[in-house]
Amino acid sequence: MPEQSFSGLRLEGNLSTDPQEIAYAATDFGGIVSQIPLAVAQVSSAQDVTAVLTFAADHGLSVTPRGQGHSSMGQAQARSGIVLDLSDLNAVHDISDDRVVVDAGTTWAALLAATLQHGLTPRVLTDYLGTSVGGTLSVGGIGGTTHRYGVQTDNVLSLDVVTGDGVLRTCSPTESPDLFNAVLAGFGRCGVIVRATIPLIAAPARVRRIKVYYSTAAELRTQQRKLLGERRFDFLQGQILPSDAGWVHLLDVAAFYTSPAEPDDADLLDGIGFDAGRDKIEDLSYWEFATRLDETVTYLESTGEWRSPHPWPNLFLPDRTTDTFVDEIMHDLTHADLGASGLILTYPVPADVLATPLFRVPDAPTIFLVAALRFASSGPIAEQMVQSNRRWYDTAVNLGGTSYPVGAIPFAEGDWRNHLGEAHRPLAAAEARYDPRGVLNRRLKLAP
Ligand SMILES: Cc1cc2nc3c(=O)[nH]c(=O)nc-3n(C[C@H](O)[C@H](O)[C@H](O)COP(=O)(O)OP(=O)(O)OC[C@H]3O[C@@H](n4cnc5c(N)ncnc54)[C@H](O)[C@@H]3O)c2cc1C
Repeated sequence: MPEQSFSGLRLEGNLSTDPQEIAYAATDFGGIVSQIPLAVAQVSSAQDVTAVLTFAADHGLSVTPRGQGHSSMGQAQARSGIVLDLSDLNAVHDISDDRVVVDAGTTWAALLAATLQHGLTPRVLTDYLGTSVGGTLSVGGIGGTTHRYGVQTDNVLSLDVVTGDGVLRTCSPTESPDLFNAVLAGFGRCGVIVRATIPLIAAPARVRRIKVYYSTAAELRTQQRKLLGERRFDFLQGQILPSDAGWVHLLDVAAFYTSPAEPDDADLLDGIGFDAGRDKIEDLSYWEFATRLDETVTYLESTGEWRSPHPWPNLFLPDRTTDTFVDEIMHDLTHADLGASGLILTYPVPADVLATPLFRVPDAPTIFLVAALRFASSGPIAEQMVQSNRRWYDTAVNLGGTSYPVGAIPFAEGDWRNHLGEAHRPLAAAEARYDPRGVLNRRLKLAP
């Protein structure tokens, strides 16, 4: 095959075929698959994005947008195509009382730092803020306040998108809603998000965070269900963790406040089995709370686990089958099956707060996220974990569950078809309209 020349592609940013840049774009946080692109386009404007998409269409190449590359299994990679790196498109524009206009390559950490200067915050933050705005809006973006506000894609006022045909368009729930709904949680199939307008609310000054440990998963879920109904806490999560004494089950909840409206600890702790000798209550600034994973990241960097493979499966189960699913996967799970710092994140969300058509969740009034943060010490162990993830996925589907496809679960065309269900038809129509030459994320396109 003749070598592809990129001499006709002029960018304000940078187009690179440097082996180091190529190697970087062929990796992701998952560290499981590596697909080698022909070039990496480091874009600095919407015009750059148009230039790359037009060039790719004219030369029969596929383009994959990349935010921070924190996907687990190649979602932001482009085999023999162009990786469109948005990390330099990272300005925070207007911040007004109720919204912010932000470039898609901005990390949530940078966005929050900017909005907090105005005493404001996005409603929903992911646990880790090193992800990009465009990256999580292209997948969903779930966090501890999702039980109140939905996922991040449910909290977008409008988007500027360069569609696959190279045209810069604005879309919202009322302006080109077909595009809006095909881009949010659309994994970059129809267009590249270059800018988003996101609603803001008053940021709390302080956070009272409470951690309670239970000996069984059933106790944890019973408390989570009760608290979900009561709306006692602003933040609601939970974890299953390895310990020397076996698995422990952690309720992780928080109440947000700004003085003088301080929460009453007795009310917060009422009936949740808090044991002062075992459990923890702490008071943090909102920023300390939002960046609470930074310490863990520093620790994982020190042990090398931040760079090892991360076969993380993310699943959603209907409440009615969550107990069965968790019992089944925990039955013969060993600590080694999760790796040294592994854990399982699990928390409930009421389905009525979720409205993004492509964010596919079980048909149930309440769903549970069950996400395993697995750390593999080698490639073969990662492969075994990926196979185990696939078995978990099959079990989940039999129990009415779905995947959150940012994770490391092998997904064939048929899986995508099942996953998308009725949402496939409008997505396919949007792809045909906005990416008629099939440039974007070609490997995700389904046959009609
Ligand atoms: C430590 C850690 C913690 C995490 N915690 C959470 C969490 O709490 N909640 C949660 O929901 N997820 C979480 N995730 C998963 C994370 O949200 C996703 O992996 C997300 O995609 C990461 O954003 P990114 O910028 O790295 O996206 P990338 O991995 O770069 O891209 C993800 C997908 O979106 C597409 N894409 C990226 N940018 C654009 C764009 N501008 N326009 C169109 N398409 C685009 C890519 O092609 C790809 O398909 C976590 C991941 C890690 C590593």
